[in-house]
Order: sequence, then C-alpha cells, then structure tokens
Amino acid sequence: MKKRREFIKQSSVGLGMALIGMPGIKLEPTSISEKTKKPIIISTWNHGLPCNDIGWAIINKGGSALDAVEKGVMVVESDPTGTSVGLGGAPDRDGHVTLDACIMDDKHNCGGVAFLENIEHPISVARKVMEDTPHVLLVGEGAYEFAREKGFEHKNLLTEESKKRYEKWLSESQYKPIINIENHDTIGALALDKDGNLSGACTTSGLAYKMHGRVGDSPIIGAGLFVDNEVGAACATGVGEAVIRIAGSALVVEHMRMGKSPQEACQIAIERVISKNKNIKDIQVGFLAIDKYGNYGAYSIHEGFNFAIYNDDFQGLKDSEYFFLK
Ligand code: ASP
Repeated sequence: MKKRREFIKQSSVGLGMALIGMPGIKLEPTSISEKTKKPIIISTWNHGLPCNDIGWAIINKGGSALDAVEKGVMVVESDPTGTSVGLGGAPDRDGHVTLDACIMDDKHNCGGVAFLENIEHPISVARKVMEDTPHVLLVGEGAYEFAREKGFEHKNLLTEESKKRYEKWLSESQYKPIINIENHDTIGALALDKDGNLSGACTTSGLAYKMHGRVGDSPIIGAGLFVDNEVGAACATGVGEAVIRIAGSALVVEHMRMGKSPQEACQIAIERVISKNKNIKDIQVGFLAIDKYGNYGAYSIHEGFNFAIYNDDFQGLKDSEYFFLK
C-alpha cells in the first residue's frame, strides 16, 4: 500500500502534468527563495573587498569555490600594507613573522600550516598539504621545508614599516605579549560556486607581538574554519584562543545543520564565547557563515567587525551585528 505522503506527491505531479498545455491556465515557475543556490563569496574585514573581486571573477567564469577562496586570500597575503596577514604582517615579540593558514573543500578535504616563516602564500602551502600529503597540518620548520620542496620561494616578510612598528612596540611594551581588540585581522573567505559547492580559506600572521611559537585558531580546522558541503561553512576572526576553546567554526556549522540560519548560528557561537571567557570586555571575536544556498550571516562580540560580500545582489562591505553596545 502506498504511504500517504508518496501518494500526495505523485498526485500533485500528475495534476501538474495535466494542467500543462491547457488553454487559459498558466503555471507559475517555482518561485526563487532562499532555498535556491546562489553563488557567493564572503570574507572578513575591509581586505575582503579585493579578495572577493578576485574570487568572484573565478566563480563567475564557472571556476571552483576552492580556487576562488585560495586566489582571493592570496591577494591579501601579498599586500605589504596589511599588518595582520602575510607580507608586512606584524611579527611575534621576538621579531619573527609567523603565519597560520588552512583551507577546506567541498569533499571534506582539508589542510593547514602553522608557525610557518618566510613563505608569502601559506594558504597555497595549506592547499598542497591537503592535496599532496595524507596529513592535515604541518608546522614550523617541517612546513617550511615542505613548502620549499613544492617550489615556494624563501621571502623575508618583515617589511621596513613593520620592523619600525615592532621596535617601537618593543620599547614601550617591555616584551609582553598582548591580547586585545585591535591587534589582529585575519582574512577568512567562504564561497559557494555555480556547481553548488562550498569551500573556505583562512590565513593570518596572528596576534601582533604574540609569544614566539604561539599558534592561533586560523590553521585549526573546526576552530578558524569549517566547511560541510551538505550544510554550510564558517570562519572566525579575533582572539584565536577564545575561538579554539569553543571549536568555533565547527559549532557554527553544527547549528546550521540543526536548522539555524547562518546569522543565528554565528550569534549562538558568540554567546558561547562570551559564556566561556572571563575577559570579554578586552577581546574581539567575529564569526562569518554561509549556508549551502548562499545565505549569509555574521556576528561579533563588539562593534567594529565588518565583512565583504560579492553575489549577484550586493557587492560591498557590511557591518556585523554585535553583542555589546559601546
Ligand atoms: N584569529 C587570529 C589569531 O588568533 C587573529 C585574527 O583574527 O586576526 O591568530
């Protein structure tokens, strides 16, 4: 015996077929809703704008979300004026620029590098870890040697400007590592391509003047970035310790899996950060998310987190909603 739901489904298909072609009856096409997949690239902070321009050009030509996020964040890694990512990134308290990055694709493949020095594009090394090794994360000297074997050039990433700022910090801050609202700005990018596939990338020089050897959330799958093609993708920016503590990006994706919108899921994760950290007045964390249809959301602890969007409807920056009123 047919189950009732199957019967209703079959009956309505039959009715639709019967109506097609009848004079005077026009069937409306299925209305566009948030359940229709809409390609998008979305990324953190102002430097998300140049990232999205490159990423969207790839998506628009039918390229993959994976290429879009990698090539997009590479622009930011190469910008010497950015003090929180790649070239020109603020060094640690010993004067070393150390980089963290990770990438994740639509098939749940992922790769990362941490505490990597003297390589301009940690995100591309992360992609090589994902594609050419059985591992997920390489760190430090091992990550550097792997990058060199793969043909990446050695490059000093400490610019003159960055060095001057570091020397000034050193004289004033007495060699203390600091965590606060201002001394970071990772680029995280999430994309949905025309084939309906999701990918994400995250790359940073981490907290300025951090302890030598410190690794943040940005190369950690599930913390700085998480992608599940059946659900959505999320990335984080801000104080990495607070993000790692709550497995932030995985938490956002899991809430989307349970039916929350990207906006609601980001808000829930920020509320978790707030409930698990004592010093929230002094730290900023922001989450960014898209679902598998290209709906997006963002939420942060404090005012000031913004993000860049590129889809057919909107190209530009938006301010994130936030928890604390200033
Ligand atoms: N999340 C990064 C870290 O803790 C910093 C940032 O977002 O800029 O290393």
